[in-house]
Amino acid sequence: MLRLAIQSKGRLNEESTALLREIGIDIDDSRRKFLSQAPNFPLELLYMRDDDIPQVVASGTAALGIVGLNEVEERGFDVQVVAKLGFGGCRISLAVPKGADYGGPQWFAGKRIATSYPRILKRWLQEQGIEARIEVITGSVEIAPAADIADAIFDIVSSGGTLVSNGLREVEKVFFSEAVLISNGQLTPDQQQVLDEMLFRIGSAQVSRHKKYILMNLPQAAVEEATRILPAMRSPTIMPLAAEGWCSMHSVVEEADLWDKIRQLKAIGAEGILVLNIDKIIP
Ligand code: ATP
Ligand code: MG
Repeated sequence: MLRLAIQSKGRLNEESTALLREIGIDIDDSRRKFLSQAPNFPLELLYMRDDDIPQVVASGTAALGIVGLNEVEERGFDVQVVAKLGFGGCRISLAVPKGADYGGPQWFAGKRIATSYPRILKRWLQEQGIEARIEVITGSVEIAPAADIADAIFDIVSSGGTLVSNGLREVEKVFFSEAVLISNGQLTPDQQQVLDEMLFRIGSAQVSRHKKYILMNLPQAAVEEATRILPAMRSPTIMPLAAEGWCSMHSVVEEADLWDKIRQLKAIGAEGILVLNIDKIIP
């Protein structure tokens, strides 16, 4: 049995449970408890605040956790990142009042900086050789300059909208984060096997994300050109049609390229194009 700590509510909760479902692990969070057992996989979920996840994993209370890399870095516990999960992307940045005459990191010398991430900030200031005062605030860091608690802030940014609405300007992007799967590296061989199975499934879910299955009817004469447009994993699948001179071609395409590829395929005579969602890809 493997115990996995995930955020009980907040920005990472929904995507953490969605990822587990995507890799075939059922989760009963209708009556959310502190602990719940997956009915079809040897995994037990422990729901908690994200701040505490690195510690419960380091202490062995949970063997695994899903948490933002920012929390892992800030808490400083001895845990290993075993997979990057591709959601919860954000950065921690320094921001100054809109009108400040910011000319570079030296601007921060002697200034007061409000943050909930003192450890990451301290390391950056040291790297830059800058002495500044760190004011630790948990929550609503962005109002600190207006409240005259600080001259600048060091806080999480995703779109930047909150900064702008508080009259602040992002000037240094210091730390890039996303949700990660962490482990304490002390798994029994049985637990390691369960983790390996999860990692294998996560890998194939990540490969299939943003990919579509495409099939179409194609004049036989256009096959070579179509293969150039749609390279596929090894090469596209081509099957003859009952109609003389026509075939059916199947392939996989990046969603971002989909409409461009469709335009090119139509131009060489493709007809009856179907685009389907892919559930899993096992390379
Ligand atoms: P908890 O109650 O569990 O302590 P929290 O309020 O500390 O929750 P959330 O706001 O739910 O945390 O954010 C959780 C994580 O989501 C962050 O640590 C970060 O990794 C990630 N994240 C992604 N985008 C953002 C954002 N715009 N603001 C804050 N966190 C973000
Ligand atoms: Mg938190």
